[in-house]
Amino acid sequence: MSTRKEDLGGYDVIIIGGGPAGLSAALILGRCRRRVLVCDSGQYRNDAAHAMHGFLSRDGIAPSELRRIGREQLQPYGVEIREVAVADVRREAKRFEVTLEGGERLLCRKLLLATGLVDRLPELPGLPAMYGKSVHHCPYCEGWESRDQPIGVYGQGCTGVVLALNMKTWSDDVILFTDGPASLPRGEAQRLARHGVGVREERIARLEGRDGMLERVVLEDGSSVERRALFVKTRLEQRSDLARKLRCKVTEEHGVETADRHEETTCEGVFVAGDASRDVLLAVMAAAEGADAAFGINCALQEEDLA
Ligand SMILES: Cc1cc2nc3c(=O)[nH]c(=O)nc-3n(C[C@H](O)[C@H](O)[C@H](O)COP(=O)(O)OP(=O)(O)OC[C@H]3O[C@@H](n4cnc5c(N)ncnc54)[C@H](O)[C@@H]3O)c2cc1C
Repeated sequence: MSTRKEDLGGYDVIIIGGGPAGLSAALILGRCRRRVLVCDSGQYRNDAAHAMHGFLSRDGIAPSELRRIGREQLQPYGVEIREVAVADVRREAKRFEVTLEGGERLLCRKLLLATGLVDRLPELPGLPAMYGKSVHHCPYCEGWESRDQPIGVYGQGCTGVVLALNMKTWSDDVILFTDGPASLPRGEAQRLARHGVGVREERIARLEGRDGMLERVVLEDGSSVERRALFVKTRLEQRSDLARKLRCKVTEEHGVETADRHEETTCEGVFVAGDASRDVLLAVMAAAEGADAAFGINCALQEEDLA
């Protein structure tokens, strides 16, 4: 007679999210001979990007290729991967019950949230087609590719000032577009001027270019400013509300918060890795956090099994 555990699955770990964080954790946990399931709804944060930069040994690789290699290298370890969204999670005694979209329910001992973030873009006509090609949010990802080019920065208040000054690391020709009165504190305006950053306060009508490549920023007064790249600050939101459902502490600033060790959240047995926990938002960091969480999860399982 089968037990309830078998009926419902019974994994050591269910990893929710199959980006760099989730796949990296799966690799370590698979090698620890854990029974692991990765559930992935396939809405990767960097879907708009053609190449991923700054990942040791994989600089410039297509994000989909990194994931393909990552999945391929899980095969020897028997990690299961399912293309499915997790609709709900809840604690059930010492386990977690995970409900997949479609209603199937599975049990696991530990949960890893590697569910990532969503970028909400500024509402500028023309921007969506250029995002990931010539409009970017991350200087570390695309600053080098825009080096020595005429760069625009879109942003208001101190956020815009900081991003504009940061871009001076990659180009001498930086203009800050505030899309309305800049209303900057005197010191900040002077700082921009001292470092040769121009400021345009006119409202923006649209971005113009070809094949996703920015050529100019057109202002509402009819004038335009030639630029080859625009860096913007995006508004970041959790891709998933599962952490909140589990009552993990989640803040605007830090995302899903970790307690003191190896990416465990404020909710015992629930770990978080990658962008969802909002440290440095780079793929290599997501992978590193995935490995750290896997280490924490395996140690926790060992403590339970070998007490
Ligand atoms: C345009 C762009 C360009 C970028 N370029 C670079 C770069 O050049 N270099 C770099 O280092 N970083 C870059 N980044 C950042 C990088 O994409 C992230 O740091 C990285 O993807 C984070 O990995 P992750 O695994 O945490 O999240 P993700 O890669 O976003 O993966 C999260 C996964 O979880 C899944 N998921 C969410 N909720 C559920 C659920 N309920 N059930 C099942 N699955 C779920 C999602 O569908 C997704 O597949 C870029 C980001 C953007 C937006």
